[in-house]
Amino acid sequence: MSSDFAKRWQTVLARIRDTEQRFRRPPDSVQLLAVSKTRPATAIAALAAAGQRRFGENYLQEALDKMAELKALNLEWHFIGPIQANKTRSIAEHFAWVHSVDRLKIAERLNAQRPAALPPLNICLEVNIDREPSKHGLDESQITEVAQAAAALPRLRLRGLMAIPAPVSDFERQRQPFARLRELRDRLNAEGLALDTLSIGMSDDLEAAIAEGATLVRIGTALFGPRA
Ligand SMILES: *Cc1c(COP(=O)(O)O)cnc(C)c1O
Repeated sequence: MSSDFAKRWQTVLARIRDTEQRFRRPPDSVQLLAVSKTRPATAIAALAAAGQRRFGENYLQEALDKMAELKALNLEWHFIGPIQANKTRSIAEHFAWVHSVDRLKIAERLNAQRPAALPPLNICLEVNIDREPSKHGLDESQITEVAQAAAALPRLRLRGLMAIPAPVSDFERQRQPFARLRELRDRLNAEGLALDTLSIGMSDDLEAAIAEGATLVRIGTALFGPRA
């Protein structure tokens, strides 16, 4: 069982390294976030034993339970799910990163609630890059204003942008929304921000995301198998 996790972990890392090379990205410029939502603590521990340190969770209570159970492993936890305003305190207290900040009010609450004893909370702004009505995320038209305001909050570190494009299987079509997100990041940096993170790419489109500049891919299924 543990060796299955080690094997899948190595396979995903090889996909990342091969794709970096193929698209002339510097070696190790793409980090792997293991998305462990719905997976038991035993599966996380097995992947941690293989060498994985960063884990992403979508559901707060589930995440807190697993964090308590795995405290001794000193893992780095990233919150990547939808955020309700009444859950921000616990998120600010327990996570190193939040990828799914989709309105200024959430950034302001996380800033106010980040404990003084912890380093600033790393955040990404989630962009609804395909403008899907049912999806979370900021519209591109709101980004400059929200990013400038979030960057000024002292207990947060605005690191970059995150997106979950509508799923398509064709490689060239997968690249298009990722390219738009990269252009948005470049535009914000030209306006004076210093964003170093593009949180894009999942099990089925990580190659397209890396081709377009992903610095962190969020991978669940390819590491843990299909979700129930
Ligand atoms: C579940 C999830 C992932 C991982 O998706 P896979 O297709 O299983 O790799 C990545 N990002 C977010 C925000 C998710 O909710």
